[in-house]
Amino acid sequence: MSNIKRRESIQVMVGNVPVGGGAPIVVQSMTNTDTADIESTVEQIKHLHREGSEIVRITVNHKEAAKAVPHIKEQLVNDGYDVPIVGDFHYNGHVLLTEFPEAAKALAKFRINPGNVGTKTRDENFCTIVEQAIKYDKPVRIGVNWGSLDQQLLADKMDANSKLEEPKSSKQVMLDTMVESAKRSAELAESVGLASDKIIISCKMSHVQDVVTVYERIAEICDYPLHVGLTEAGMGMKGIVASTAALSVLLQQGIGDTIRVSLTPKPGGDRAEEVRVCQQVLQSLGIRSFIPQVTACPGCGRTNSTYFQELADEIQEYLREMMPVWREMYPGVEDMNVAVMGCVVNGPGESRNANIGISLPGTFEEPKAPVYMDGEHYKTLKGDGIGKEFRDILDNYVTD
Ligand code: SF4
Repeated sequence: MSNIKRRESIQVMVGNVPVGGGAPIVVQSMTNTDTADIESTVEQIKHLHREGSEIVRITVNHKEAAKAVPHIKEQLVNDGYDVPIVGDFHYNGHVLLTEFPEAAKALAKFRINPGNVGTKTRDENFCTIVEQAIKYDKPVRIGVNWGSLDQQLLADKMDANSKLEEPKSSKQVMLDTMVESAKRSAELAESVGLASDKIIISCKMSHVQDVVTVYERIAEICDYPLHVGLTEAGMGMKGIVASTAALSVLLQQGIGDTIRVSLTPKPGGDRAEEVRVCQQVLQSLGIRSFIPQVTACPGCGRTNSTYFQELADEIQEYLREMMPVWREMYPGVEDMNVAVMGCVVNGPGESRNANIGISLPGTFEEPKAPVYMDGEHYKTLKGDGIGKEFRDILDNYVTD
């Protein structure tokens, strides 16, 4: 595991999940169902939670959604899912939380976007939400977002900047406003009576360097736990790489107590991909372990077979499938390393360095596959059933 020194922060309980204060960095995600559709929302929350989302956020955007919240919670509890549900509020959170106390009670946290709580009555609406949080003993996340930055605050900042002898760039003023919006909102929440151990902060932007700058600054001026992520990260590889880049820079500095990767899924795609990316980032940095890692080579001209790639993929999927059971029965299994390699060049070396590894034969090698266990040669496999035999050996290794 890494020796990263975490930034010190206050611990906030989100339902039964501690965030900050030295607690493990929490993985979270958000549904994309219509919250009023109870059945679909419950199913997606369950799926995300099974895949490893420790907190799940749902949008609460209208009355039907607010009415659905307690039923969603009840259904989850009845089905044995004790996952904290966070309500995402924009524009009308002050109305919904006041009119639907059962929703307020069922949620484990309220997310407030200070840029989306109204204009003329901005502070009043914000304070109404905070009062509901106090009333029901819930934490809030003050979630500032680049795409919905408090326009009044930005205009004031731009105005003040224009009067400076050496004005800053517009971009710089925007970054200042992000930090100021979070700081000002947290101070306002505390002035209403919300305890400091009920506040989590996020300041999300869609460009890596901006998000790094803003979080570095916010990390210095407060000790609230920070929810870190890139907003609107985008689709596929672009979203994954950009999110990983931003998270890695911040997490390596000890900044970040809970993370989300906001990927745009392909139509019909699996929403849980964002959970898996969060887990992989944390595991690659040596911060947390979730699933045994498969080391596989990229392949090259030394092997004209794709068998080792197929086997590596099959083993990774198998491990993912088994983890819910294995995690309970064999604590520590998530730290295991499995190697599936393509030829003799690096195969035996990587396999010896793994807990268990197989070196498949390259094109011009003898058709045999030595298996290594804890650094020692264990057995040599031959013939058509190599994959199945290797999986059996892996099973025995875990369960013995
Ligand atoms: Fe190529 Fe062998 Fe290296 Fe794999 S282990 S990349 S097949 S040389």
